[in-house]
Amino acid sequence: MKTRLLFFILISLNSIHVMAQTKLQSDTIRTSSGILTMTFIGHGTLMFTWNDKVLHVDPVDQYADYESLPDADLILVTHHHGDHLDVAAMDKITKPGTVAICTESCLEKLPDGIAMKNGDERTVEGITIQAVPAYNIVHKRSNGEPFHPKGVGNGYVIRFGDKKIYVAGDTENIPEMAGLKDIYCAFLPMNLPYTMTPEMVSQAVRLFHPDILYPYHYGETDVTVLVELLRDVPSTELRIRNLK
Ligand code: ZN
Ligand code: ZN
Repeated sequence: MKTRLLFFILISLNSIHVMAQTKLQSDTIRTSSGILTMTFIGHGTLMFTWNDKVLHVDPVDQYADYESLPDADLILVTHHHGDHLDVAAMDKITKPGTVAICTESCLEKLPDGIAMKNGDERTVEGITIQAVPAYNIVHKRSNGEPFHPKGVGNGYVIRFGDKKIYVAGDTENIPEMAGLKDIYCAFLPMNLPYTMTPEMVSQAVRLFHPDILYPYHYGETDVTVLVELLRDVPSTELRIRNLK
């Protein structure tokens, strides 16, 4: 009797795991050296798998069951805000040798992290990571401070073979985006008031023309507005995924 009950509990736990993970959507793209799978976990949280390497971006417990996701070779954290830096989630996907790249503002909670400044570049497991600026110009707190001051947070340009993926972090359409070259996929944030309006995202796209745009971290903002705003930019394909 006891064994049967235990068996039942194990089966149930297992199906909860499966259920939790079946909700995750992913897309694949071909790179010069292997297929890249991009998994859309939710909010600002993503996972990339490429060959046998696993890269997590801003893993946060609230958006996935990290116990059942693969351990990370590399973790990228864009900044210290609680919806991006979650040490408990990181612990669940950390194995010996996992490299965690973050910002200086994360080091207090993440003493083993490697802080990168805007402009720094580093290659880990054959994946080149460039840290780029992420900050607010227009959207500020009531005391006049930007939600994300310049120089604190990172966006990351991640190179998998010949494909460059830009994960913007919490930012607005900043002039530095005009310097981004050959971005294949861009993840641009659109939750308000902390990041960009759809109009700002549309302006950002015109600065560097990614092949594919994924609005992400969009909260309650209506993503479908982008369809109209980007109608005259046919070179960028808009892909809307579940990244509220
Ligand atoms: Zn933030
Ligand atoms: Zn955020």
